[in-house]
Amino acid sequence: MSQATESDVREDGIIESVSGPVVTARDLDARMNDVVYVGSEGLMGEVIEIEGNITTIQVYEETSGVSPGEPVEGTGAPLSVDLGPGMLDAIYDGVQRPLDVLEEKMGSAYLDRGVDAPGIDLEKTWEFEPEVEEGDAVEPGDIVGIVPETPSIDHKVMVPPDSDGGEVTAIESGSFTVEETVVELDSGEEIQMRQEWPVRQQRPSVDKETPTEPLISGQRVLDGLFPIAKGGTAAIPGPFGSGKTVTQHQLAKWADADIVVYVGCGERGNEMTEVIEDFPELEDPITGNALMDRTCLIANTSNMPVAARESCVYTGITIAEYFRDMGYDVALMADSTSRWAEAMREISSRLEEMPGEEGYPAYLSARLSAFYERAGYFTNINGTEGSVSVIGAVSPPGGDFSEPVTQNTLRIVKTFWALDADLAERRHFPSINWNESYSLYREQLDPWFVDNVRDDWPETRQWAIDTLDEEAELQEIVQLVGKDALPEDQQLTLEIARYLREAWLQQNAFHPTDTYCEPEKTYRIMDAIKTYNDEAFEALDAGVPVEELTDIEAAPRLNRIGVQEDYNEYIDELEDDITSELRELY
Ligand code: ADP
Repeated sequence: MSQATESDVREDGIIESVSGPVVTARDLDARMNDVVYVGSEGLMGEVIEIEGNITTIQVYEETSGVSPGEPVEGTGAPLSVDLGPGMLDAIYDGVQRPLDVLEEKMGSAYLDRGVDAPGIDLEKTWEFEPEVEEGDAVEPGDIVGIVPETPSIDHKVMVPPDSDGGEVTAIESGSFTVEETVVELDSGEEIQMRQEWPVRQQRPSVDKETPTEPLISGQRVLDGLFPIAKGGTAAIPGPFGSGKTVTQHQLAKWADADIVVYVGCGERGNEMTEVIEDFPELEDPITGNALMDRTCLIANTSNMPVAARESCVYTGITIAEYFRDMGYDVALMADSTSRWAEAMREISSRLEEMPGEEGYPAYLSARLSAFYERAGYFTNINGTEGSVSVIGAVSPPGGDFSEPVTQNTLRIVKTFWALDADLAERRHFPSINWNESYSLYREQLDPWFVDNVRDDWPETRQWAIDTLDEEAELQEIVQLVGKDALPEDQQLTLEIARYLREAWLQQNAFHPTDTYCEPEKTYRIMDAIKTYNDEAFEALDAGVPVEELTDIEAAPRLNRIGVQEDYNEYIDELEDDITSELRELY
């Protein structure tokens, strides 16, 4: 979080009332969304309403003990994040205070009243390598230098978007802190590695484009059936025990994003602690470095103050946009947006606003869409292309999807991955329900799969979808009359669908090979099952009884493709064996 300097601070308001995280002040000279320091302890807050002489503030810290009559100081600046080298590998709270620094200062990550800390280390030095020369003209957004921030990521130092630009009059390589000037312009402007940006304002771009590339996750059910685009939006509900944590780790590890921003928004205390402990242990399977080398964690447990929970998603998305501006593909995971909405509800009720559905404020839907709107595939102002993909977990109470947060989210996001507790109970992992999930990117991404995987990707996938749909319908009949009462062709379809579920949709996150499945392998497994399907139906037409078709020896080997490293050879042989075994039957 950026700091207001002493000289900015004016002691100009008096607390009138305190209601939990909401404080009103009299005579405060401030604008909407300005940061203020509340009470004699100087708790950080943000202006959320101004009516005549009365300013309403949401306070990011516990307000017990704060009383009317105490001073409120305005900073004249909106809630902003510090952007620059040092954000990767960091763990922040909802207003970008580094948790390790807080912990050092306070002896606990949760006791954080009145403690402020800059979002990035101001003393650490970084190796700055210029990308422009003296005499070059630079414009807002332009990359002027590179800092090897972590073994995985080069940080691109950019001219701030609100700069006027100009001609470079001085630039040097060397070791600098984020506050030292690295570039001077003829206008007299000095550029540092650190810049600030107000969190509630989207960073500018030239253009938002229709996304055409998938964010490959290496998870067959996602890439194969419900792909998300780079720059796309997805929602994932997280009933307890359904594999939400594993799915999130898989996405953080394997999704082909350059940067991961993980916003833990007020989940139960111990769950967030788990994330804080787990993530630093994870290895980036692609580089072998620590996953944290390309990850920024924002952690707000539910025992942290409610207003900080409200702001954490904005802090996260602003950091994501900043890396996007460097030309990176960023994946932002917010867990859970339901807790964020609850924070909004709590503040709204303190403000005595007219409640909407289930007590949520009437602007819930507008806030959700404004957040997801910041996702996208962009042409940045420096001409690079970058994306922010947003994956928001929702945790509907009791798993009831009809509640307002889930409903409003589903109206906005284009991908829905329905984690299903029943599937998890049956040990079908990842437990993404293929009947309930959807992706509106599917057709839009087909050209990519056609160009980069196989020409008949869309047709083969459609065959898989049709087979799974048919299975769902047949299952209802089977429950009534039993499988043997079905005609033979339908019995065969059930068997093929079983292989689609077991060999294709199921994937073991803990198996060293199966944990990641490249799109080519996703295609080949699906296609191998289709080969079995096509050959078996021909044999059935030729009069072979269905039991003989389903009993062939080679078929169960389909279930082991996932764990094969040399899968091409394995599948070639398996397809030959299936074909010849079936053809021998007639
Ligand atoms: P949640 O976070 O929803 O409570 P977890 O992600 O911890 O649930 O998953 C619960 C258990 O389910 C895990 O410990 C693991 O055994 C199993 N599991 C979940 N997803 C997978 C997967 N993709 N592959 C294998 N096992 C899984």
